Amino acid sequence: MKSILHFTLIFSLISFLLFSCSSPGNDVSDAENVIDSVDIKRYVTMLGSDEFQGRQPFTEGEEKTINYLKQEFERIGLKPGFNGSYFQDVPMVEITGKIPKIIKISSQKNNIELTHVDDFLTWSRHITDKVKLENSELVFAGYGIVAPEYDWNDYKGLDVKGKTVVVLVNDPGYNTTDSSFFKANTMTYYGRWTYKYEEAARQGAAGILIIHETGPAGYPFSVPAAGAGQSELYLKPKKNSPVRSKIEGWLTFTAAQKLFESAGYNFEELILSAKKKEFNGVSLNATLSIEIEQKVRYDNSKNVLGIIEGSERPDECIVYSAHWDHLGIGPVLNGDSIYNGAVDNGTSLAWMMEIAEAFMNLNQKPKRSILFFAPTAEETGLIGSRYYANNPVFETSKTVACINNDLMLPLGKMNDVMVTGYGQSELDNYVEEAAKLQNRYVLPDPSPETGMYFRSDHFSFAKVGVPSLFVRGNCDHAKNGKDWAHKKEKEWLANNYHKPTDEYDASWWDFTNIVDDAKLAFRIGFKLANENTFPKWNNNSEFKSIREKKIQ
Ligand SMILES: [Zn+2]
Repeated sequence: MKSILHFTLIFSLISFLLFSCSSPGNDVSDAENVIDSVDIKRYVTMLGSDEFQGRQPFTEGEEKTINYLKQEFERIGLKPGFNGSYFQDVPMVEITGKIPKIIKISSQKNNIELTHVDDFLTWSRHITDKVKLENSELVFAGYGIVAPEYDWNDYKGLDVKGKTVVVLVNDPGYNTTDSSFFKANTMTYYGRWTYKYEEAARQGAAGILIIHETGPAGYPFSVPAAGAGQSELYLKPKKNSPVRSKIEGWLTFTAAQKLFESAGYNFEELILSAKKKEFNGVSLNATLSIEIEQKVRYDNSKNVLGIIEGSERPDECIVYSAHWDHLGIGPVLNGDSIYNGAVDNGTSLAWMMEIAEAFMNLNQKPKRSILFFAPTAEETGLIGSRYYANNPVFETSKTVACINNDLMLPLGKMNDVMVTGYGQSELDNYVEEAAKLQNRYVLPDPSPETGMYFRSDHFSFAKVGVPSLFVRGNCDHAKNGKDWAHKKEKEWLANNYHKPTDEYDASWWDFTNIVDDAKLAFRIGFKLANENTFPKWNNNSEFKSIREKKIQ
C-alpha cells in the first residue's frame, strides 16, 4: 500500500510539473521579460523626434509615423490586421471656418457683443461653404441632458427647433455626494460636451453653446481655445448620419453671466436651479445671428493594425490601443513649433509595442486573437477609433476587451495602479490580480469628475459595448511618494501638455513605470486571451445595455 501511494504521489507530481511546464501559464513570466526601458526609450525618442513633425494626420509626419509603425509590427512578427494590410483607411473631412471676430446678441433691452476666443468659440460641422443663423432665439436648457434612467429631461416642455440652446457643462451630480443622483461627483457620459452636441441635434436645435467652467469641464478654457479658428477634422459622415446643429461652441462663464443678466436673470440662481429635476428651461429673450464661411476638403488618414491570430478561437479578440497622431506643427512657443507628442502618445505606443513583443515571445500562442491598434486622429475627437469601432475587423460582440493607454508620464516606478473608469466592469478584477503580482495596489482615478474615461480611444470601444480599460500607475511614486507624483503631473500638464515642450528629456525621464504598466497589461490580456468567458459591464454602467443587446 505504502509503495503504491508513493508511486501515485510521485506520478502525480511529475505529471503536474510536466503539465505546468507546457501550459501557457508557465512561460508568461519569461515572455514578459522582453519588456524593458531600453526598447521603450528607442520607440519614444524615434516617434517623438523632430523628424516625425508632430505626427499630424494628412502630413508628411503621418507618412513617416505609419510606415515606422508598420515596419516595427513586421519586425515583431505581427500579421497585417486589415484585409492583408497594416492600414485601414479612415475617410475624413476637414473643415476650415472663417469665424467672425465679433458676434452680436440682440435683445429688446440691449445688444451684447462677444469676442471670438475671449468670450466664445464656435464652429460648424455642416459640410457646406456657408453656415448662417439669423435671429436664432437663445434658450437656456439646463444641462442639456435627456437621461431616462435618472428620470431627467432638460428639454421637457421646450421646443428648441431652429433655436440656439445654451447649456451647462458636466452633469447635475457634479460636486455632490449622493451616488444615486447621476453618479455623484463622477462624470457620466451625459456630462461630456460630445453628448450635449449630439442631444441638441436630436432636439432639432439650430445651435448649441456650452457654458465653460474649469472645475466641471475638467480643463481650462484655454484648452478648447487653443484650436480656435484652425481647421477641424471629422469622420466623413455617412448618408444617413444624423444632422448636427448648424453651430456648436462654447461660451466663457463670464460671457454667459453677461448674457443671462442682460436678459434679466440672476445668473447664479438660475444655474443652481438647473440642478433640480423640476427645472424648466427658459428663453433668454435674445437672439443670435452669425455667418461662417467654410472651406471643405476630403482626405483619408490611416489606422495602423497588427494581429496575432488566436490558436483556438481566432474570431474572438483582445484589443490593445494607443493613438499614433498628435498636433503636428503649430504656433511657435519659445522658439519651437514642432509639437512632438513624446508623452502624448509616444510612451503609450512604446507600451503597446512592448506588449506585442511579449505576446510574440510566448511559447504557445494565445487562444484568442490579439489586435494591436494604433488609431489616427484621436486628438481631434477619437476619430480613428470611432471609425474602427463601426467598421471592425473582429465583430464587436466577439471583441472581449479593449486595453488602451494615453499620456503615460515617464515618472519612474509607481506603487499604484490607477483605473480610470473604476467600477465600470469586471475588468477591474483582472487589474487587481495583475497588480498584486507586482506588489502594487489599485485605486480609482482620484478626479472622476473630469470624465477622463470618455476622453481617449477606449471610449470608442465602450460606446459600442466592449468592456474597456484605461490603467496605469499614476499617483504613488515608489521613491518620492504621492504628493511628489501629483505635483509632477500637475506641472507637466501645465507646462508641456499639447505644447512643443512635450519632448524627450534625458535629464529626468524614467521609463520603469511604463515597463511595469506594459507587463501589467500583458498579464491582463494574456488571461483574457486564454479564457472562454466574456467579462461583463457592471450593473450601473451606461454601456451594459449596449453590450447585452449585441451579445444575445
Ligand atoms: Zn493622447
